Amino acid sequence: MKTEARVVVIGGGVVGCSVLYHLTKAGWKDVVLLERQQLTSGSTWHAAGGFHTLNGDPNVAKLQGYTIGLYDELERISGQSCGLHRSGGLLLADTPERMEWLKMAHGRARYLGLDAQLLTPREAKALLPLIEERYFVGAMLDAADGNLDPSGTTHAYAKSARVGGAEIYQQTRVTALTPRSDGTWDVITDRGSIHAEHVVNAGGLWAREIGRMVGLELPVLAMEHMYLVTDEMPEVVEFNRARGHELPHAIDFKAEIYLRQERTGMVLGTYEKACVPWQPRQTPWDFGSELLPPDLERIAPSLELGYRHFPAMERAGIKRVVNGPFTFSPDGNPLVGPVQGLPGFWCACAVMAGFSQGGGVGLALSQWMVHGDPGFDVWAMDVARYGEWATRSYTNAKVRENYSRRFSIRFPNEELPAARPQQTTALYDLMLAQGAVMGDSWGLETPLWFAPAGVEPRDAVSFHRSNDFPHVRAECLGVRNGVGVTEIANFAKYELSGPGVEEYLGRLMTNRMPRQGRVVLTPMLNESGKLIGDFTIARAAAQRFLVWGSSQAQIYHMRWFERHLPRNGAVRVRRLGQELVGVSIAGPRSRELLARLTDEDVSNGALRFLDHRRLDVANVPAMINRLTYTGDLGFEIWVAPEYLRRLYASIQDAGRDLGLINFGMRALLSLRLEKNFPTWYRELRPIYGPFEAALERFVDLSKRDFIGREAALREQETGGALRRVTFVVDATDADVLGDEPIWHDGKVIGWATSGGYGKCVDRSLAQGYVPRALAAETTRGAFEIEILGERRAATIAPEPLFDPQGLRMRQ
Ligand SMILES: Cc1cc2nc3c(=O)[nH]c(=O)nc-3n(C[C@H](O)[C@H](O)[C@H](O)COP(=O)(O)OP(=O)(O)OC[C@H]3O[C@@H](n4cnc5c(N)ncnc54)[C@H](O)[C@@H]3O)c2cc1C
Repeated sequence: MKTEARVVVIGGGVVGCSVLYHLTKAGWKDVVLLERQQLTSGSTWHAAGGFHTLNGDPNVAKLQGYTIGLYDELERISGQSCGLHRSGGLLLADTPERMEWLKMAHGRARYLGLDAQLLTPREAKALLPLIEERYFVGAMLDAADGNLDPSGTTHAYAKSARVGGAEIYQQTRVTALTPRSDGTWDVITDRGSIHAEHVVNAGGLWAREIGRMVGLELPVLAMEHMYLVTDEMPEVVEFNRARGHELPHAIDFKAEIYLRQERTGMVLGTYEKACVPWQPRQTPWDFGSELLPPDLERIAPSLELGYRHFPAMERAGIKRVVNGPFTFSPDGNPLVGPVQGLPGFWCACAVMAGFSQGGGVGLALSQWMVHGDPGFDVWAMDVARYGEWATRSYTNAKVRENYSRRFSIRFPNEELPAARPQQTTALYDLMLAQGAVMGDSWGLETPLWFAPAGVEPRDAVSFHRSNDFPHVRAECLGVRNGVGVTEIANFAKYELSGPGVEEYLGRLMTNRMPRQGRVVLTPMLNESGKLIGDFTIARAAAQRFLVWGSSQAQIYHMRWFERHLPRNGAVRVRRLGQELVGVSIAGPRSRELLARLTDEDVSNGALRFLDHRRLDVANVPAMINRLTYTGDLGFEIWVAPEYLRRLYASIQDAGRDLGLINFGMRALLSLRLEKNFPTWYRELRPIYGPFEAALERFVDLSKRDFIGREAALREQETGGALRRVTFVVDATDADVLGDEPIWHDGKVIGWATSGGYGKCVDRSLAQGYVPRALAAETTRGAFEIEILGERRAATIAPEPLFDPQGLRMRQ
């Protein structure tokens, strides 16, 4: 065995082999894979081998499309068959809500360039005669679906990697990982050790245990999963004879089953409600190629429904039942990328659909390792999307919830209950007592809206405007016409300090750093000039800055901050988490309210727009930023957590006769739409440049040097390919949510990123990206946005519908 390698990939399942192949393809030849037993001996060997493109996140869907397109290349390079059956697949809807979901998925498939088609139940039955059509209201055909041979495919990756120069050692178990002071690793195995620059955890069923070797508790858990294989079925034989091809796959959401042809019979797999985790504490190292005992009782409710929906299945004999474990993260997407605080340690695990996602995971990780960036938007599967709150028992509860809901609809206004509340602030019970409906914001309970007395504080889940509509509207109007208070503890906060801090932030951010006592807004770019952050930065002292950003991206941003820290210790960075909490007061009467709580001068002359100030507010030592995301006059008030209750109670007392109202995140997001403000993760993502995102006023190209400047200069010259715009949409009772196709002249030319109802301007609004040349097209109804399968006229609003000059914020 080699003793030195640039990369050691741990794990010879489909994912590890894909990573290995893609590393060689990206040009790294000195790469090694270590496998405990033999290739495929984790969850890979007993997979059902199905693949499909559908995913809740369009960027993951694209990667799934990439994976499926890769198999021909692998067969060509390796000479090894992947056993491909490109049969197409049907998604079967049993209710109007599920049909709406399919229409949304169909719209999304359109802008992703995927081949999908909506069908009536009769049309679906013509393709798959096993269906009892009266149980369904419609279907979608996804032409890219199919299935393959899991073992053949894994070996095709492995052989292709060997062709590219990689080495694979089987029967070699990694027992420990020891970091060296230079950031490299000693990989200790039962057959000696290898010194490597990079280590990849592709340990599948043992990914959690490999994480523990370096002090990590990764949020990943294996679940038992069952499918059964039938004997020969005459219906299948007859279909193949008459049509000359295989039956398509099917997903029956109601019965929570999937079906596909296997030789002359069928495979039927279930995602049952009564699901069971496997080895929730520790996966035994000696688990090999054995299966788990089948438990047909557990999947009986799914089988019963499935037999009703596909009667021929009930008549078929069962040849074999497979029960095997495979891993999931809490949201079901993979955990990929470098781990914050562990240079050279990479994850490629929790891949629950290895044959749809394995290729995309390998591509993303290899580009990240070789070029420093995955090259596209991998946020939905970035290992950095979880924080320390995602503990082992949290993961256990969330993974079970996710598994049991695998084929359930997640409505846009639906908050899932498992493992909540996980984190709360001191205002939690006070806000619940005032009718707050809470949502989960990166593990923290955050108010979404407030139900007035006599109204049940509960969301009626829907794709349409829902029961919160009049109450969120009242909150928005309350802010715009008077004053409102909302909790903002869920924002990410960081403290950066030290003698080198100004230079450091200047290099990371596109905008100039503020003077002491002032605030700036600034994007952050990667080397390719794409948006990887959007921050509010206040200078609290000469060498001390406070930084606010997106809650979900805290680890993602810490990883970037740490990666660029100077080695001489001239800069310190600290994530403040819940050490710093706060509220925002907003609306034309917010100054009057603040003035009642302090004896300092808070007039427009003394506390200007974008000022940052230390102030006693209601006796409490506080920091004020004079800005709010509502786009109105307003103040963020930041305090230590022990003061939060007093601050809030004092605000409520002082605001009573000003008509102060509580408002939640939903009102905040509606108010920002009226101002054309973008939001991180929807409008701002690493697939857009700052000019495309219409953030040019926050990019100071006269600064000598900042990361992404060269690319930003080029983008400035060309203007970029796309442009973020706001639309007024002729919607009736359902608004844009995000990821809908935008049409122009009968063609799909872009996509919506978010939308909703502008409650104070009384218009349905959406933001999205269109080709730059079309961004000036302001003719009424020149565009259409497809909402739930219907194309709605949409008109670009060149300036914000509320307060276009921004006078209210500055008054
Ligand atoms: C019943 C069932 C049906 C499924 N059906 C489908 C399907 O239809 N379509 C689909 O896409 N997916 C399906 N899957 C899921 C699929 O199997 C997984 O997504 C895939 O196998 C994950 O691959 P992996 O490489 O991440 O993990 P694994 O296959 O678990 O591979 C990890 C490898 O790492 C090795 N290893 C671990 N620790 C060490 C160590 N310390 N040293 C050296 N080696 C180590 C292990 O021996 C193992 O070979 C199914 C799974 C099951 C159980």
